Amino acid sequence: MIDLGFIKERDAKAELAEIAAELKQKYSLETLWRPHQVHSDTIFVDGEGEGDGIIITKPSIALIRTADCVPVVLFDETADIAGVFHSGWRGTELKIVSKGLAKMKDFGCKNISAVIFPAIGFCCFEIGKELLERFADAGIPTEKRGEKYYADLKTAIKNELKNGGVTDISDRSECTFCGEGYFSYRKNKTEKRHATFVAVK
Ligand SMILES: [Zn+2]
Repeated sequence: MIDLGFIKERDAKAELAEIAAELKQKYSLETLWRPHQVHSDTIFVDGEGEGDGIIITKPSIALIRTADCVPVVLFDETADIAGVFHSGWRGTELKIVSKGLAKMKDFGCKNISAVIFPAIGFCCFEIGKELLERFADAGIPTEKRGEKYYADLKTAIKNELKNGGVTDISDRSECTFCGEGYFSYRKNKTEKRHATFVAVK
């Protein structure tokens, strides 16, 4: 059985231990992995360390934290394998989601579904002009509005998923910057985060 979710932390860092304990209790699981996130394309399998994605092939929980970056969960209910990925613009440029997808296929996943949780949207993700070429090279759509430039990470990730053969893509992603009640690092340098998790029972 696979379950997944998105939790808004009530306080900053200190609360994560509580969330972890609650999730372990809820699913009667002893193991919760979470990476030390560094905007990389490093993915761990049934483990954790400095990286931005975790794939679980054994009963356990994997969790990442975000406030604007795109949290993506991939899961295959037939294979009982799932992964959670932190894809900010650097992770999207490095195609961490495609890399996670390929790894899951290596483990025998054939029916992978994807869920994209709240992150900063095309409406609000302003970027510097100096990044335009890098974003174009990475397949991340951009647009000029007035004198400003904006980028669309979620569409880039959806395109990665489609190119990887994923047809079941659920976009639950409201914008964390202009949406009501989310945490946005861009907006106010908050220390609060959203926790996105997936559990394999
Ligand atoms: Zn917005």
